[in-house]
Amino acid sequence: MKVGDTKSAVIVLDGTLDHWRHHVRALAASGDLPESVRWVDPRRSPAEPTGGLFASAPPAAAAEPTQAKGDASGQALLLPRRFVEQLKTVSCFRSEEMWLVAYRLLRRIVMGERDLMEDPLDKDVTAFLRMEKAVRRDAHKMHAFVRFRCIQDADARGGERFIAWYEPSHLIVEREAEFFRKRFPSMDWSILSPDRCAHWDGKEVTITAGATRDAAPTDDELEELWCAYYASIFNPARVKLKAMTAEMPRKFWHTLPETQQIPDLLADVPRRLAEMAETSRRMAESAMPFVPQGAPLAELKDALPGCEGCELFSNHTSAVAGEGPENASIAILGEQPGDLEEQAGRPFVGPAGQVLDELLSGAGLPREKLYLTNAVKHFRHEVQFKSGERGKRRLHKRPTLEHVSRCQPWFDAEMGRVQPETLICLGATAARSVFGPTFRMPSPGDAPIARTSRYAKRTHVTFHPAAILRAPTPERRDSLTQHARSVFEAAKGPTS
Ligand code: SF4
Repeated sequence: MKVGDTKSAVIVLDGTLDHWRHHVRALAASGDLPESVRWVDPRRSPAEPTGGLFASAPPAAAAEPTQAKGDASGQALLLPRRFVEQLKTVSCFRSEEMWLVAYRLLRRIVMGERDLMEDPLDKDVTAFLRMEKAVRRDAHKMHAFVRFRCIQDADARGGERFIAWYEPSHLIVEREAEFFRKRFPSMDWSILSPDRCAHWDGKEVTITAGATRDAAPTDDELEELWCAYYASIFNPARVKLKAMTAEMPRKFWHTLPETQQIPDLLADVPRRLAEMAETSRRMAESAMPFVPQGAPLAELKDALPGCEGCELFSNHTSAVAGEGPENASIAILGEQPGDLEEQAGRPFVGPAGQVLDELLSGAGLPREKLYLTNAVKHFRHEVQFKSGERGKRRLHKRPTLEHVSRCQPWFDAEMGRVQPETLICLGATAARSVFGPTFRMPSPGDAPIARTSRYAKRTHVTFHPAAILRAPTPERRDSLTQHARSVFEAAKGPTS
């Protein structure tokens, strides 16, 4: 039968591209590329898995062309390189139709349509490209959705083998084994699927016959960790169910431990969205919009007078910025500027500042090497008219948690630049701005404790110098002072 004849052939394949090629070459070698060939491929018909986990894959079928004659080595077909590459991908498509379309294209190319693949309107080309796209997409999903579970295996390296169950839409396990070998070279793994299983032992990838799902473990100790991670990155604001089910089709859900949480996470979306809206409302109603993110301290100081993050900006006072070098290893956080600080535009310069200076010099800490600031940058106060005298005075009024929270972006920005080794919080307001509103102050007799906070590896809490000044009895003053001294001593640590 010569090229151009209209006879047909029936050829039984073992499902591999090599076997198909063998037959095509044989047909060509005998001068016989029939217009119609019926390719029979049992592997692409729905079939039961053929063996256990480590059974060998069926050998290449010995089937020969039923009508064609010739030798596989007989004739090399000159095909465009790109077509050959595409053929490797398309040969994974799970349908016998694939061999037919590939053969029709090959035959037309061999017969002279060298630019055939450039014709996007050709029916065969379109079908071929559609299959190529489907296989590539399937491979992409496999890369994303294979989940390994650990089992004890004395024969595996380190006594552990990682096993995944995966059901690809197309016959891609052999093709994608190389991807997983490169990604997980140091662990022994097996990917089980109904068609084929791939195994890696550190030396070579082996392919065995398909398996059933019960050959794969259903959970392991890493699963809880992974699920917790997934829940933490689940963003309710980005939930698009349609896109989720398109990208992560439900058929994969049973093998993905994290998807077991999706119904609960979805049910929680309204609550979390409301929470996020509240957080963003609070952020918008805070100093955040006025803080130049990532700016150096000098720039922060310049921007501070423009802050309208809370109502204190309109209380006829000026905000007081922190002071000290950007490379300070110790930072000190107070509550808010007082009357004299507001007038001077510097933190800790009033009577409380003098107490602080004494504590610092007692501990041998040079003030100019420290960074000093307050949790709230404006002076919250009330005006009291002096009875029987002329004039008025401004009395300290403790800032609320709302003031602290609204002003926090300034402190965040300052600490982002300074990144101190040690932070000393003076008083409850400062401590609560760092450790949260439920923080309880230590007792004066407590030993200094260095905690870790988001601002510094070692964060101490002691009493505000103003509290020392206002102590009702000398004994109380002494005990507060003693606590503060011990904290400043401890804060020196290895970095002073
Ligand atoms: Fe802004 Fe803080 Fe002043 Fe409020 S106290 S206006 S948040 S700088």
